[in-house]
Amino acid sequence: MRRTDTARVVVIGGGIAGTAAALGLHKAGCDVAVYEARPDAAEDIGAFLTLASNGMRALAQLDATDAVTAVGFPLTSLRLLDGAGTELTNAPLGEAADPALRYRCLRRGELNAALRDEAARRGIRLCHGARLESVTDGPDGVTARFLDGTTATGDLLVGADGLNSTVRRLIAPSVQPVYAGQRVFYGYTGTAPTTEGTGVITMVRGSGAAFGYAVSPAGESYWFARVGGEPLPAGTPVGRPSGSWREQLLPLLRPDHTPAAGLVEATGDAIMVTDATELPLGTVWHTGRILLIGDAAHAASPATGQGASMALEDAVVLAKALRDLPDRHSAFAAYERHRRPRAEHNIVVSGGISRGSRTPARPAAAMAPPVAPDELVRQLAWDEPLPAAPAGDG
Ligand SMILES: Cc1cc2nc3c(=O)[nH]c(=O)nc-3n(C[C@H](O)[C@H](O)[C@H](O)COP(=O)(O)OP(=O)(O)OC[C@H]3O[C@@H](n4cnc5c(N)ncnc54)[C@H](O)[C@@H]3O)c2cc1C
Repeated sequence: MRRTDTARVVVIGGGIAGTAAALGLHKAGCDVAVYEARPDAAEDIGAFLTLASNGMRALAQLDATDAVTAVGFPLTSLRLLDGAGTELTNAPLGEAADPALRYRCLRRGELNAALRDEAARRGIRLCHGARLESVTDGPDGVTARFLDGTTATGDLLVGADGLNSTVRRLIAPSVQPVYAGQRVFYGYTGTAPTTEGTGVITMVRGSGAAFGYAVSPAGESYWFARVGGEPLPAGTPVGRPSGSWREQLLPLLRPDHTPAAGLVEATGDAIMVTDATELPLGTVWHTGRILLIGDAAHAASPATGQGASMALEDAVVLAKALRDLPDRHSAFAAYERHRRPRAEHNIVVSGGISRGSRTPARPAAAMAPPVAPDELVRQLAWDEPLPAAPAGDG
């Protein structure tokens, strides 16, 4: 068996987690290739997201700050309005003073493309149109088999294939994503009258929906609305923009005296909807030569806006674990001990917000405490070794 830092790693999924992991593993000296089901990056439709300061810190460890700050726009303050339009708070957001660590608002596809272009620039292999069907894990290696009949063999296989992960289905078939109590709508408009400048994200505690929006330097408003109720009917074309969602939303927003209804009214057909979905706590993350990361391991409802940032953190900690620990058993175990408390804390907090209460929806005993901020900085710092166990753990 090779040392883990020269291991051949097959990454399944070229989304944010998979591409970022490839950047980290390549930096750690691994021989890494990414296999993505979609035929090309142009299909990367989707809503926008925010990278929080912790995600930007992880990105910096991957030397990918410049690639990502070339797209999207920074957010430096957070305003909170009530349904009457009264400003409740207006405060700096995250590590606003450091340009590299500022929150960033980006279209999901733009972030993905920026990471993929950076991976290609570094000579990392990215294979499109490779949809994983099955995996054979053996004593000498792990082989991925794709729908088109091709195969890829490595020492390790990283499942970064998202919420409906095939890799997870293969190693933990009983685990199912769970509806977290809200539908989430996303839209863009360039014609809405807003008074804020760019750099501000405004959250609205509306009477019928939780709403948020930010204005890009080009004057385009990016907005989302989270609405409680039943999940979307089966077969709803999630991620495909449609103006029909406007009529569902407007009656919930019009009673309030905030910019929300005006923004939605001014939005054409560029409105998407998805269910807020999460994975159960305790989902198996690794077996043999196979490990799950990103949404495949710990998808959370989008309420905390941490999904992409958590995926970037995963990428750094996994790369450090394989760089610093002597074999895959200790590397996978250390990775999980460092990441599980934090990722599951996010599932619980975000799910609590989506279900309308900030209190965890599960017994507190199921939750380890999240990582302290200075400990997280050390975990992510590329030049610091990753301990086999987190500080204070046994
Ligand atoms: C609508 C929406 C809004 C969101 N908003 C935010 C936000 O504001 N802030 C935030 O931080 N996060 C947000 N998230 C979450 C965030 O996008 C994800 O958590 C983050 O992108 C990490 O995803 P991932 O790379 O693990 O999975 P994904 O982004 O889902 O990527 C998985 C990749 O694997 C590929 N794949 C799937 N199956 C296979 C297969 N069998 N073989 C090969 N490839 C396969 C997929 O095509 C995809 O490219 C949002 C998510 C959604 C759905």
